[in-house]
Amino acid sequence: MNLRKYGLLINGQEIVKTYFLPVQQKYTGNLLAEVSVAEKDDVDRAVDASMEGQNLVLPPYQRYQILHSAASLLRERKEDLAHLMTDEVGKPIIEARTEVERAAMTLEISAEEAKRIQGQGIPVEASPGAEERRAFTIKVPVGVVAAITPFNVPLNLACHKIGPALAAGNSVIVKPAEKTPLSTIYLANLLLEAGLPHQRLHVLTGHGPDIGRWLTDNPNVHMFTFTGSPRVGEQLRKQAGLRKVALELGNNSATIVHKDADIREAAKLVSMRSFNSAGQVCISVQRVFVHADVYNEFLEQVVDHTKQLHVGDPHLEDTQVGPMISESEAQRVEAWVNEAVADGAKLETGGLREGAIYHPTILTNVTETMKVCKDEVFGPVVTMDTYEDADDVFERVNRSQYGLQAGVFSMNMRFCLGAAEKLNVGGVIINDTSAFRVDAMPYGGVKKSGTGKEGPRYAMEDMMTERLVVLR
Ligand code: NAD
Repeated sequence: MNLRKYGLLINGQEIVKTYFLPVQQKYTGNLLAEVSVAEKDDVDRAVDASMEGQNLVLPPYQRYQILHSAASLLRERKEDLAHLMTDEVGKPIIEARTEVERAAMTLEISAEEAKRIQGQGIPVEASPGAEERRAFTIKVPVGVVAAITPFNVPLNLACHKIGPALAAGNSVIVKPAEKTPLSTIYLANLLLEAGLPHQRLHVLTGHGPDIGRWLTDNPNVHMFTFTGSPRVGEQLRKQAGLRKVALELGNNSATIVHKDADIREAAKLVSMRSFNSAGQVCISVQRVFVHADVYNEFLEQVVDHTKQLHVGDPHLEDTQVGPMISESEAQRVEAWVNEAVADGAKLETGGLREGAIYHPTILTNVTETMKVCKDEVFGPVVTMDTYEDADDVFERVNRSQYGLQAGVFSMNMRFCLGAAEKLNVGGVIINDTSAFRVDAMPYGGVKKSGTGKEGPRYAMEDMMTERLVVLR
């Protein structure tokens, strides 16, 4: 078989290197392609070209047109891209198609936001002695943005960084995850095809720690936008020094089901949203707290729905849960579940591993010190616990080291508003799970879940500098 060897994309050129990283098809484990491993010189070349890109005149309306055309191209190539993602990530084809549609939407929203960049009037003349002056602010691009993305949502999360950064007038160097770089390479080529000047976007594949170090060593990279694990996020922040860093990190997302909730609806949504992308989603439902009065009824229904999920080959139209990113990740999840069971947890369904596939799993009788509760599982595992008192459950949700989003099912306005005010998270989703997201909304967490917000309008604020102009 003639295996495709992908190059780096620097300044519009594909640069094929001598060393490569394999990219596997996640369901079969077969080799899918190889991608070039960037070296320090490549990183510096991409930064130099990005700096040149900053000298080009590319007004907001042109940025709008380019991003808008790229969104249309994404929609045209939906099937191609969806199958590529199903291959490289292992996510079910139905989910991969949704990701392409959402990615197009993210670019489209970014395009619109390019036309809405505005400063403000500043009434300096109101200060004694400054009557002869007038002032306003303008928003200018930060310059060169390095975007580092995780394996799980390789297309839409890349769009959440590239879209706003380009809309704001920056140059972008993107570094996709080692295991899933192909959809990002596809996306970058599509943006160039849509008319983006080649100095404005580059793709570097290879080893994260090396590329991260070389990017942070280069003072002409002005901002880092990172989505991934807290460990790497913290390290990047240290290396970046005083430069801007936006971090979208992990979560062990909680969803609360109160006694007055629509139990059927809640059970259906919890079982659907816990196992998307085999649970490898940062807002995937992990810890469910159910009011004691409705616990048995709710548990029975969730277990019932979960047992009906179709698990297997992600290319099949009816598959709902595919493989995890690797067999070793599935083994890690298996070990965490086994450890919880050894410590007294009860397996309600699942607990079975076949290679990289881990079957949707529900655990009850858990304690908060178990890894499956206190850490981010990032796999298809849900824990269920009961509560009786509102303040007690809010406090238990808040004892997490994370705080990205939480879900609350209740028809009681007082309970819902209490949750909105007391849960220490970036977003409280009422009558849906923690996993709700549309691409325009502000999205980001507190504590170990990170700093900064995504959603094109919010991400762009970080990707621009507000400059004051005083006229005398
Ligand atoms: P990861 O942290 O291992 O890797 C993320 C990216 O960082 C990859 O591109 C990797 O190559 C790169 N990297 C690794 N070491 C680096 C270093 N020293 N310097 C710079 N870059 C480096 O994460 P992952 O396993 O790909 O993704 C899973 C994690 O991502 C989970 O914790 C998940 O919660 C998180 N995530 C968060 C969000 C969010 O929006 N908050 C979304 C998706 C995933």
